[in-house]
Amino acid sequence: MKYAVIICPKCGKAKGIETRKKTTTCPCGREIRLKRGIFKFMTDSPSELADLVARVNAALHGIEPMPKEKKRKRRDSYAAMVEGTAAIKDPLERLHVIAAELTKSKSEFDLDDLRRVLSIIGQDDPERMLARLLEGGVVFESSPGKFKAT
Ligand SMILES: [Zn+2]
Repeated sequence: MKYAVIICPKCGKAKGIETRKKTTTCPCGREIRLKRGIFKFMTDSPSELADLVARVNAALHGIEPMPKEKKRKRRDSYAAMVEGTAAIKDPLERLHVIAAELTKSKSEFDLDDLRRVLSIIGQDDPERMLARLLEGGVVFESSPGKFKAT
């Protein structure tokens, strides 16, 4: 990668650098030897570098949490579960399958999990849906506030 973020050992500020260079001079006057071990974040994109420097500086001042080391395209597991059930027409049957998936991946699920999957389907009222699942006997309360699909 062409660019990296380093943190100046003297003034403690984040700074964007080109990784091919051997040294850099911080605005505070400190000359910093560049070696891989001190690179906090790396990127090939100059605009991403600027963004990372700004975010690391904000994090250093306690304004923002430190950005994640690698931007991984995290697939929303809830969205994946819901997508997998798109062919099921009956909403309750579909929800049953989703509940089974939730049980499989989390061993138990709660109302909040249900709220998230329902919002993806474009429905709200997880309480009512949960009540219907419980009524239908396809879900049971395995511990207070936690549910499992049968
Ligand atoms: Zn400095």
